Amino acid sequence: MDFAYTPRLNDLKARARTLTDTIMAFELECEHNNGLSEQSHATIKAAVLDAGLQAINTPAEYGGAGLSILEQAVVQDELGKLTGALWDTVWRPANPLAHATPEQIERYLIPEARGDRRDAVAITEADAGSDFSSATTTAKPDGDDYLINGEKWFVTVGDVADFMIVLANVEPDNAPTMFLVDSDAPGVSIKNVPRYTHTFVYEHPEFTFDNVRVGSDAVLGGVGNGLELTRDWFTEERLMIGARTIGAAERALTLAVDWARERVQGGQRLIDRQLIQGMIADSVVDITVNRAYTHQVAWEFDQADLTDPTVRKTLHAKAATVKLAASEASNRVVDRAVQIFGGRGYIRDYPVERLWRELRVDRIWEGTSEIQRLVIANEANKRGLDKLLSFPQE
Ligand SMILES: Cc1cc2nc3c(=O)[nH]c(=O)nc-3n(C[C@H](O)[C@H](O)[C@H](O)COP(=O)(O)OP(=O)(O)OC[C@H]3O[C@@H](n4cnc5c(N)ncnc54)[C@H](O)[C@@H]3O)c2cc1C
Repeated sequence: MDFAYTPRLNDLKARARTLTDTIMAFELECEHNNGLSEQSHATIKAAVLDAGLQAINTPAEYGGAGLSILEQAVVQDELGKLTGALWDTVWRPANPLAHATPEQIERYLIPEARGDRRDAVAITEADAGSDFSSATTTAKPDGDDYLINGEKWFVTVGDVADFMIVLANVEPDNAPTMFLVDSDAPGVSIKNVPRYTHTFVYEHPEFTFDNVRVGSDAVLGGVGNGLELTRDWFTEERLMIGARTIGAAERALTLAVDWARERVQGGQRLIDRQLIQGMIADSVVDITVNRAYTHQVAWEFDQADLTDPTVRKTLHAKAATVKLAASEASNRVVDRAVQIFGGRGYIRDYPVERLWRELRVDRIWEGTSEIQRLVIANEANKRGLDKLLSFPQE
């Protein structure tokens, strides 16, 4: 067993840190303007390409950085320090695109890896959230085409994405299927752009699909495979949320400790007060334990035989454990950081305030904390605790 970072992981972490520092300069612009100017986006895009951290999950032969899951987690851990969700400017094609046909790779994946196109994933509906299998968007066969009808909510990056991966049920058997839909296709429209608690560099609009015609070449990953592709997407995304929230927590704690060392009240530095020390110690525990487990599961993912459905299910539950533990722990850390900053911790210009506001959604999206608990308990029931609790054997 070896827990040391390899020179390659060290190098990736250093590159990700440099890129994070560059993008951090845009945080206040994003907070004050609820987004970035075209010029700022262009500067960030150039920095991402310069760092070689574009499309980190996409094979190098298609123009991505081609990183393993552990390597991606190390990069996301650094990027997670950014507020305004500026980590999302470091584009990463949605995982279902791994099932793209050669034509879809040419048309969607390769331009996206270059940073010239952008996707959004549209699964959730007004009445299909945690239970996304109850989605009612339909795809009706019409000759060689399909006509898509329905409504999708919370479509992150939907305001700038030029294509969407849409989950719809193919009639007449209601076969859940993913479709690649160009955002400018006739019948696609934005219904509403809600304001959310966090400031996010992109929007999360609601979309309607009104008789949107797509060809059979728009089917991604085969008719009827939509739910399985969604679950696989969740597995990787939940690991990356774990990694990002830990990075965010580290930034908040670092700022809080620096502040506690400087700030004097009642003749003593805050750091010398035992109640403050308790908050710092609990935060160190939350970060270190969760970073270790996130790295462990990411590493297991890279070793695993993903063609084995049982292995995939166990990893799905382990990724749920990561997401549940890390997002809840990081929310505790950023809350304590706000407390240590006192009134300043409640001012939006202070990063701890933004981190506190922005990490809240990590307990909701990609499956709420309650849903992660259901996934974990379901695995314990179906395949037992052994695999959930143990390390893989050589
Ligand atoms: C900012 C933001 C961005 C998002 N981006 C995207 C996106 O890009 N694409 C996309 O498709 N979706 C996206 N989502 C949707 C997100 O994944 C859902 O909001 C989430 O899965 C929860 O669904 P819901 O909001 O319908 O809540 P509900 O499912 O209605 O849940 C409400 C509450 O009930 C609980 N609950 C539900 N079912 C159970 C159960 N069986 N047992 C116990 N408790 C339960 C939940 O845990 C929660 O506390 C986004 C959401 C947000 C807020």
